[in-house]
Amino acid sequence: MLSFGNDDLRDFCQQTFTSLGGLVDTENDDILEVVTTDELANNFNGKSYLKFVFDRTLLSQYPDAEFISYGHPNLDMLINLASQKGLVTRWYLNGLQTTTGYLRDKVAKKVKIYNCKSKYLLDILERFSYCLFNFKISYISDDKKEEIKSVLVDRFSAAVNNKLLNTLDILSMGTECEFRGMSEGEIRPLNEVYQAACDYIKNDISPTIENMKNGIVKRLSKEIMRIQNYYLENEIEIKQKLSKELKSNERRQRLKQKLKINAIEKEKKILDLEEKYKLKVNIKLLNVALIYQPKIKCKLEIIGDGNRFYFNVFWNPIFKDIEEPFCMKCKSPSYDMWFTPTFGVICPTCYSSSYID
Ligand SMILES: [Zn+2]
Repeated sequence: MLSFGNDDLRDFCQQTFTSLGGLVDTENDDILEVVTTDELANNFNGKSYLKFVFDRTLLSQYPDAEFISYGHPNLDMLINLASQKGLVTRWYLNGLQTTTGYLRDKVAKKVKIYNCKSKYLLDILERFSYCLFNFKISYISDDKKEEIKSVLVDRFSAAVNNKLLNTLDILSMGTECEFRGMSEGEIRPLNEVYQAACDYIKNDISPTIENMKNGIVKRLSKEIMRIQNYYLENEIEIKQKLSKELKSNERRQRLKQKLKINAIEKEKKILDLEEKYKLKVNIKLLNVALIYQPKIKCKLEIIGDGNRFYFNVFWNPIFKDIEEPFCMKCKSPSYDMWFTPTFGVICPTCYSSSYID
């Protein structure tokens, strides 16, 4: 049996309740408490206060809580509400301290770009954004399983950056922007951002698919064996009758016909089984949230191999640190970067593979 992590499920419930107007309390990691609006309460048996645990064993500790998991009516309701609304919400990470000193030194200390000259040009405080995608993944074969996965994509580089996901519940998220005056930084086209999320999901679920397929192969071959044995016994029985039947040609013909039908039925049963056990995976986008925060963009001038271009690194007030820039080829984060005229600034892995090529 596969077990899925509850972190994404918890994040999803929290975000969805909040975006539907519920007041969510996250003080205690074990439980999720929601004070609902009247409209929201209508969907949950008129309850104005909901309390959930994500682990069944916690029910004894919180007897007034409800267990929420895949296949549970409360979760189905929440998924329904989220997809009905086709939610695209906007969140602003407010209350962040956006001043810091010695940025030039911090960048030089953290980010190394080898085989080129880099010059710190300027820094600017900008409004930066992420797309948070929530997907529901259903695995259907002889058995059905579901899970929710959240992916956060940085809109400046269209790279997946889930680091922020773990800190979202401790940050102050508002629907009003406190940094409205700030100009918005460059963003990649939305289809590229969405593609990055889809690629990540496909990659992320591939071990689960492999695991499930292995389980299916085992169960299927057991079932096929059972079917084959059943029809083999039939076959033996018919053949025995046939060997004893020496008088009537008509009965012999009937038994031969039975043998044929037995073989056809066996093939059909096996084909049906193979169809039933085939794994189908559905990925559905439930909702998207745009998350905004201020960041300081530090613009660098890169000169290498007679080429000159600009490369940005960011100071993030959430982590109070320079972020790892993303490789311009594979989009993995790294503080150690190499310059190539073809791709620009790339990670050590891409650099060494381009060197071999
Ligand atoms: Zn790379």
